[in-house]
Amino acid sequence: MARIPAARLLAGLCLLWAPLLFAASPDAALQAALDSAYSAVEADDSGENAQYIPALAAADPEAFGLVIVTVDGRVIERGDTGVPFAIMSAAKPFTLALLLQQQGTQVVLERIGVEPTGLPFNSLEGIDRGVPKPLNPMVNAGAITAVSLLQVDAPEQRWPLLLDYYGRFAGEPLELMGDVYKSVSQSNYRNRALVNLLQVNGWLGADPSSTLDVYNKQSSVAVTARQLAAMGATLANAGINPLSGERVLDAQYVDEVLALMTLGGFYDESGWWAYSAGLPAKSGVGGGIVAVVPGRMAIVGYSPRLSAAGNSVRGMRAIQAISRELELSLFLP
Ligand code: GLN
Repeated sequence: MARIPAARLLAGLCLLWAPLLFAASPDAALQAALDSAYSAVEADDSGENAQYIPALAAADPEAFGLVIVTVDGRVIERGDTGVPFAIMSAAKPFTLALLLQQQGTQVVLERIGVEPTGLPFNSLEGIDRGVPKPLNPMVNAGAITAVSLLQVDAPEQRWPLLLDYYGRFAGEPLELMGDVYKSVSQSNYRNRALVNLLQVNGWLGADPSSTLDVYNKQSSVAVTARQLAAMGATLANAGINPLSGERVLDAQYVDEVLALMTLGGFYDESGWWAYSAGLPAKSGVGGGIVAVVPGRMAIVGYSPRLSAAGNSVRGMRAIQAISRELELSLFLP
């Protein structure tokens, strides 16, 4: 019997398997990880919608969507990925991005700070315990300060500038959710206290009431999970939106945004998040979470029921599962 040379055998086997290899494309692997995380988490109805903002309390608690947008613009999704929800604190990294883009690193170090708080997002304690700055841009005190520091010729330009910038991250224009904005503005007692404390400490760059109004608007921007994932994918892609091709943020600032997301994106649950998912990410009490895998993709989970710290329960669990399945943690050797 003639012996088949090993190389020929290997080539023949490869040809045989080619269609299968083609089917197991990178998209198929991502879709499989997303689907299995979705199924594993779907039945989890723990936590509850944000109660302190009536419009968020009224959102459909069952909504659940997962999306991946890759740095080459591929979109992999499952569930409620086209449903608009309020971005809330998931906007904070993008306001920070605009501040960095406008004014560079020093303003963040000198006027806001970069230290994790280990405190709830809306804590007054964090800024009223003799610290020299509002701590970091991922908690309300630092995020409100970031809004006040944005440079504009006239105060009324601050909001359109910010909304336009978010749209560039998303690759399409974004809009305000009018009912959420109204509800937030009527119920934001803690943030009113915060902005006044920031003012008496001399930390704000603009007047307290117009600053708080822009912050309320930034929280009330409508995004779909897909749009939020495009925003995250722009960070993953070193500041260039993979869908529009536009450079939105200089590459030199991207790691600064991601570092702060890693350290404080989940407030007093940030340690647990880094430990279990190993990715820079930011949550919002509207139920969205955007996680960034630098150089590769963004993963968004959306579901309105929240943990005690204000982070989407299904969103966290699903992204943790995807991160483990695809070995995405930044901290893997
Ligand atoms: N606008 C909300 C607030 O400041 C956002 C909070 C959040 O999403 N964690 O209360």
